[in-house]
Amino acid sequence: MRILVVEDDPDINRQLVNALTDSGYVVDNATDGEEGHFLGDTEPYDCVILDLGLPVMDGVSVLEAWRREGHKMPVLILTARDRWSDKVSGFDAGADDYVSKPFHMEEVLARVRALLRRSAGHATSELTCGPMMLDTKSAKVTVDGRAIKLTSLEYRLLAYMMHHQDRVVNRTELVEHLYDQDFDRDSNTIEVFVGRVRKKIGLDMIKTARGLGYRLAAPDEGA
Ligand code: CA
Repeated sequence: MRILVVEDDPDINRQLVNALTDSGYVVDNATDGEEGHFLGDTEPYDCVILDLGLPVMDGVSVLEAWRREGHKMPVLILTARDRWSDKVSGFDAGADDYVSKPFHMEEVLARVRALLRRSAGHATSELTCGPMMLDTKSAKVTVDGRAIKLTSLEYRLLAYMMHHQDRVVNRTELVEHLYDQDFDRDSNTIEVFVGRVRKKIGLDMIKTARGLGYRLAAPDEGA
């Protein structure tokens, strides 16, 4: 899952990027509203963390512009603790949730997990598909109770597919959600990663939809 952080305070920005990266997400970041708006308008994010007090273009204007442009990704806003009116204008602009500053990183991460799973239609932080269970909290995957050791990229691939297991995901979409904006993207490498993850799962769960992409399904279901 790919996340955008828009925050002008360099320390908070870095802390958010580090914590999200450690949690298995791929993260892009911006330090002013204009750059943040541009990224959210041009790149497909699964979730955005948006500070409201930003230089060049304020957070509420950024959010209003995204919603006007038709972008529906979940947005978590960061507000100052004593500014209740910020929360109101944030929600009115299209925010899905908020955290007040100063915040505990664990709370931000928990809210991001909740936003990601809700936007994909899941009710709990443990996603299951047949014998496979992916715990978005600990970033661990098991198959029939057996833990599977994955690299961070393999985990991202499986996490994205688990969140979207009801449909076929194509290679371009996977590339866009697994790598950050600076990565030299090559959709051919996806095939290699899918092959490795398949081998680690040991069951026929990642089906190839010819010419379309991949679909995650329990082993006994058809492609
Ligand atoms: Ca700020």
